[in-house]
Amino acid sequence: FDALHETDPELAEVLLSELHRLRDGLQLIASENLTSPAVLAAMGSTLSNKYAEGYPGHRYYGGCGPADRAEELAVSRAKDLFGADHVNVQPHSGASAIMAAYAALVQPGDPVLAMDLPLGGHLTHGSKVNFSGKWFNPIGYGLHRDTELIDYDEVRDLARVHRPRMIICGATAYPRNIDFRVFREIADEVGAYLMVDAAHFIGLVAGRAIPSPVPHADVVCATTHKVLRGPRGGMILCREGLAARIDKAVFPFTQGGPLMHAVAAKAVAFREAQMPEFQGYVRQVVRNAQALAAGLDTEGARCVTGGTDTHLAVADLTALGVTGRDAEERCDLARITLNKNAIPYDTQKPTVASGIRIGTACITTQGMEEGTSRQIAGLIGRAVRSDPGTAAGLAALHEVADEVTALVQRFPAYARPAP
Ligand code: PLP
Repeated sequence: FDALHETDPELAEVLLSELHRLRDGLQLIASENLTSPAVLAAMGSTLSNKYAEGYPGHRYYGGCGPADRAEELAVSRAKDLFGADHVNVQPHSGASAIMAAYAALVQPGDPVLAMDLPLGGHLTHGSKVNFSGKWFNPIGYGLHRDTELIDYDEVRDLARVHRPRMIICGATAYPRNIDFRVFREIADEVGAYLMVDAAHFIGLVAGRAIPSPVPHADVVCATTHKVLRGPRGGMILCREGLAARIDKAVFPFTQGGPLMHAVAAKAVAFREAQMPEFQGYVRQVVRNAQALAAGLDTEGARCVTGGTDTHLAVADLTALGVTGRDAEERCDLARITLNKNAIPYDTQKPTVASGIRIGTACITTQGMEEGTSRQIAGLIGRAVRSDPGTAAGLAALHEVADEVTALVQRFPAYARPAP
């Protein structure tokens, strides 16, 4: 950091302000986590310099010995962690992994069945502004309006009618476990590939807190930076029979040189996830999400599906008369970082939304448990109800911000080393 400060003090200040933001507030974005110093060290390493197009043992450049070793470590650890036949650790991101999976499994124009976007599907599941919606023929399935759970009968009916080449399950804001076995049955019935987008929950699978999609899916796409607590990046797990197609779809079809520093950092994160402590961590992540969800319910913010099995919850603020957009702004003023989120069958525009989404990966990394999670629910409730347009509301938000600062001092993110 000293070298950076000397060369570019302006940018060094930006990085310091991000560190202060992490230290001084509560991070509840469900797709974020706080990586270990070991993962950060690998990310900031000299492997960032290396061109290593190809795969270990078959590269298009010389000098790839250490790069090969890093990738071999990442792949063997991931295979071991997830019980997968084959793993490709080169995708630059979750979206890159998914694009490669499309490239390997389907042809332009093919029908693809995935969850409707407004209900929690990702852009790559068929949005018109994304390659998936422009080049393929997306069909959307929904949720039961009463329970807000996946309507498996509708998935089956749509599959029978449209005969998709690929079915996708996995979402950005679905708080419950997905029945991968039922998806497998439906895919088999209509002769479709099953792709599980485990971007959000792969860390929970690594920590054995929820059932694994690996035995049921043809291909599992994932990110490495959410609950899994690795560097920003993606990966693809698949059966041996699809390995060559997946590898070719990543390189040379959709990517060039892999980010070898990120691959090295993925290896570190997989090693951390192999440790028994990681299972304790993810179980606590889920318990914290359940405690936070129950606390938000008590605050009058109804939890979508009535709770959560995972690291995230979506709270419907309709009864409080506050939109998701206003809630996000109010929480921001109180140093609580979360995001607005549509609730199932929302009547608000996505940019306004009726709900918020919270996740507990960061606060659990910081060592918080259920009691603190309930306390946080109370702070969110107070922030959401405080209108910054009024003097009393603004004062209340400042009060909550002070309480947040006091709380996080007990659980410092990236604690300063002792002098
Ligand atoms: N799939 C799902 C379900 C996601 O939630 C996300 C990102 O949050 C992605 C894919 C894409 O991941 P990335 O942002 O790394 O491209």
